[in-house]
Amino acid sequence: MKMNQYDLLIVGAGFAGAVVARKVAEKGKKVLIVEKRQQIGGNMYEKFEENGVRIHLYGPHIFHTNNEKVFEFLKQFSEFYPYEHKVIGKIDGKLVPIPFNFTSLEMLFEKEKADKIKTILKEHYPELEKISILDLIKHENPLIKEFGEYVFEKVFVHYTAKQWGIPVEEVDKSVINRVPVVLGYDDRYFKDSIQYMPKEGFTKLFENMLNHENIDIVLNKNITEIIELDFENKKVKIEGEIFEKPIIFTGAVDELLNYKYGRLPYRSLDLVFENYHKTYFQPNSVVNYPNEEKFTRITEFKYLTNQEIEGETTILKEYPLKYDANNKKCLDPYYPIINEENIKMYNNYKEEINKFHNIHLVGRLAEYKYYNMDAVIEKALEMSEKI
Ligand SMILES: Cc1cc2nc3c(=O)[nH]c(=O)nc-3n(C[C@H](O)[C@H](O)[C@H](O)COP(=O)(O)OP(=O)(O)OC[C@H]3O[C@@H](n4cnc5c(N)ncnc54)[C@H](O)[C@@H]3O)c2cc1C
Repeated sequence: MKMNQYDLLIVGAGFAGAVVARKVAEKGKKVLIVEKRQQIGGNMYEKFEENGVRIHLYGPHIFHTNNEKVFEFLKQFSEFYPYEHKVIGKIDGKLVPIPFNFTSLEMLFEKEKADKIKTILKEHYPELEKISILDLIKHENPLIKEFGEYVFEKVFVHYTAKQWGIPVEEVDKSVINRVPVVLGYDDRYFKDSIQYMPKEGFTKLFENMLNHENIDIVLNKNITEIIELDFENKKVKIEGEIFEKPIIFTGAVDELLNYKYGRLPYRSLDLVFENYHKTYFQPNSVVNYPNEEKFTRITEFKYLTNQEIEGETTILKEYPLKYDANNKKCLDPYYPIINEENIKMYNNYKEEINKFHNIHLVGRLAEYKYYNMDAVIEKALEMSEKI
């Protein structure tokens, strides 16, 4: 690799890396992307199964945002179709809307009681469209509290324990608040004003985004094989040569620093794909299993990809587990486990990286944050201006 021909080095070809690459390349700068996987797209990568179904290899990904700038940017690389995501969950043997809403309430409670609960909720929250379950379970009104405790038990307690491997009380409140209780009949999973999916999928979108004469990509290369951080002189070396141009790093900081403060903990998923010779497996794109089953949800991809394939379908079951690099069942670190101790460990890593003026950390791994893709794209657009 002749590094001196490049104005920018990017580590990782997910959204964080690819967006910066494209923006900077358009300004006439030469960009090199180094990606450790054998393909581009990061966790957005999609591929076709033999039966023709397009699957999301790293779990189902749905685009939704309120940020028009992000959507305008993406529309340059793909056509999009409107897609409003809806989820149903198996509760007491019935498939009801999740987030829990008035339809779920009517399906699971006797009519008289359901009407009472709806009335009292409307009286207490006339202006609100949704509310946190944590507010309901500590409400002073006994009926609201009872309703809150029911939903908490059936939708949150066991699901959260499965997903995070710890009791619900120990999970950060922000995680619980990601799924509200809806005070009405809106059954969309996301409330964002922009909800679309790329017509030919995310991999194609990435191919178009990275197809630029100023962008070179090296796949199957872990940056740790060629990077050296010289702490004494505060210089970065690539293949033994000092590299002083900007570096956008979107991988895991603990890996970059050889885990000197320990491994940053993550939850992961054992993703089990199954093919069936039938047109549909289930009545909805995603069915959540908050209670008895070991998996948390089943996704049927054809609903997400808008494909009509007669007699064939592919589903995905997600079994949460602790991330362990030596366990082949967890493909990757997925969800950072946010608590005081882990944030402290992350900050130690960040402090070390900050000693190098030209390394910039962007993205879910590099920043140790749960980021939706639109937030990562927004961050990457900002970074491309900054550098
Ligand atoms: C299961 C799951 C479902 C999700 N669903 C949604 C959703 O529905 N909607 C939504 O908006 N967001 C969703 N997200 C979040 C979304 O995946 C992320 O916001 C987005 O993929 C982050 O992009 P990124 O570039 O930061 O990271 P990534 O996509 O992980 O890209 C990082 C890239 O860097 C490469 N890399 C890492 N280390 C190195 C190294 N040492 N050397 C070279 N290359 C390296 C990796 O191989 C990877 O390709 C979901 C996340 C998960 C885990």
